[in-house]
Amino acid sequence: MPSKIIPPAPADAALRRAAKPTIVYPASTMPRPDMAVLESARHTMVKIHEVVVPPRNARAFRVSRGQLFRIVSIEGPQVGDLNLWNADDLSERFFSGKTRALHATHVGAGDRLWSSMPYLRPMVTISHDTLSWYGWDSDGAGIHDVIGTRCDPYTNLLLSGTGYDFCCHSNLSRALAAELKVEPCGVEHHIHDVLNVFMCTGFTKDTHQYFMKASPVRPGDFIEFFAEINLLGALSACPGGDCSATHSSDVAACYPLKIEIFEPDRTTLGTWTWPSPSEYHRRHGTPA
Ligand SMILES: [Zn+2]
Repeated sequence: MPSKIIPPAPADAALRRAAKPTIVYPASTMPRPDMAVLESARHTMVKIHEVVVPPRNARAFRVSRGQLFRIVSIEGPQVGDLNLWNADDLSERFFSGKTRALHATHVGAGDRLWSSMPYLRPMVTISHDTLSWYGWDSDGAGIHDVIGTRCDPYTNLLLSGTGYDFCCHSNLSRALAAELKVEPCGVEHHIHDVLNVFMCTGFTKDTHQYFMKASPVRPGDFIEFFAEINLLGALSACPGGDCSATHSSDVAACYPLKIEIFEPDRTTLGTWTWPSPSEYHRRHGTPA
């Protein structure tokens, strides 16, 4: 690391550092999903479709509003990179940064994945997570992060001087391109920061650097989502495998992931409040 020039601290440095933290978006100010409704829907749901995502590859899938879907670990520990779009308008897509600000660095049951501006509404609510027991470990790590972006060939080239074609960014580009029947380079601008499903990450305590460690996921584990709008999704089985040591290469042991889609008894959702796009007027301070 290059040495940094650190200016002398001001006389009131301790006082300035002692300012009390304030939660930017307290959970109490957000509309809460009715988890009892989702729980009753879950108990009626029937699997209608499944898609297996091969290792170091991705697949697209569609889920209708009101359906649920699971990302399931099969065969071995494997991290997945998830993108979500409004199936009817790809300009509305998962907004990792705002989801992080509204919830936390890692998400779990009861949290929602929010869409980009100017829509800013829940795309899904996480209805179940078999890894919720993990919590925060002694390294400060948690599961299912909305910190990382996705492994990609551009950063690889920047840092190592070599290209790698099966990073999550490229996998997701190929999967979306196949779904839309176009070339990957024509849709890669739709690929966005991901939910890192099953990934175990945190920030080092001394240097606050992003770290990963072996995912605790095991075959049979799943995270489950309730679709609040019609969704087009894409999931990449990351070339990092369980992300214990490496990514962006063919070195790590990689396993497939399974996407399962479920239809619930719709009468159980009778009282559900479906999200509309934000009602902000979008004048941004200009005269009406
Ligand atoms: Zn990846």
